[in-house]
Amino acid sequence: MRRHALWTLVAIVAVELGLVGAGGAYYVLSQTGGVNGPVVIASFYPYQFLASRVAGDRFAVTALVPPGVEPHDWEPTPRDVLTIGTAAAFVYNGYVEAYLPNLLKDLPPDQPLRVDASAGLPVILGGEGGPNAVDPHLWLDPVRVETSVATIAASFSRVDPSGAAVFQANAAKLRQDLARIDGLFGAGLQTCARRVFITQHEAFAYLAARYNLTQVAIQGLSPDQEPAPAKIQEILHVINVTGSKVVFFEELVNPAVAQTLANEAHVQTMVLSPIEGLTAEERANGDTYLSLMEMNLQNLRIALECA
Ligand SMILES: [Zn+2]
Repeated sequence: MRRHALWTLVAIVAVELGLVGAGGAYYVLSQTGGVNGPVVIASFYPYQFLASRVAGDRFAVTALVPPGVEPHDWEPTPRDVLTIGTAAAFVYNGYVEAYLPNLLKDLPPDQPLRVDASAGLPVILGGEGGPNAVDPHLWLDPVRVETSVATIAASFSRVDPSGAAVFQANAAKLRQDLARIDGLFGAGLQTCARRVFITQHEAFAYLAARYNLTQVAIQGLSPDQEPAPAKIQEILHVINVTGSKVVFFEELVNPAVAQTLANEAHVQTMVLSPIEGLTAEERANGDTYLSLMEMNLQNLRIALECA
């Protein structure tokens, strides 16, 4: 009953938004009345990057979470839900999106195609989210991301079979780029003065596991969790014991706690990006997932004093 009412509303809003159904897929009319191509929606930035690289010009890929907003506590509006319902495919991480179970229930069963980019990926449990919490930050391990790229390409080929060769070629190129990043990390972090780094939120377990590093996070799995005083003392102790000279902070979250800690320990702060969204500055610079991964490597090499 509820679903039926919702989809009556979708039809009305789709007309208002200028979304026109065509052969089962929906096309967005541009200002000039031309077709921009079927729309794919990704839940947040890294998946938008992957999906748009695989799509090439066959899909217009947008992200649900607006630029400059961190995705952990973000919730879609009813209008977002309607927009997703008109897309050809919806690409998501599967663990970051707490709203996902309710959202999927509210979407029609046959559209958009659900693309779980984490399907089949081994996950890391635990950390401060609790022993059974899945760490969602799979996109920070370039090797796992290669598998996500294959998943996205296979899904797009189901939505748009005539584009299958394009998707496969784009995916192969992207996987090469990811393999290059993996090679740079492996070589660049091989010989370092220390292997422990201090981060703002617990985003780097997959990256740390891949390259034999250890993260110590000030905050938990989600950056809005306030650190306990005991946690601050623990971090100061880690800085002392390891001789760390850097406390990392991230672009989309208030760095006050990291800054206070760094001041207290007389060490510097640097950015280690969890790549959860691009800032306005990063967008203006033309930064992408790949360039931010390279920046992360440079900053890790400085912090860990790697040869
Ligand atoms: Zn995070």
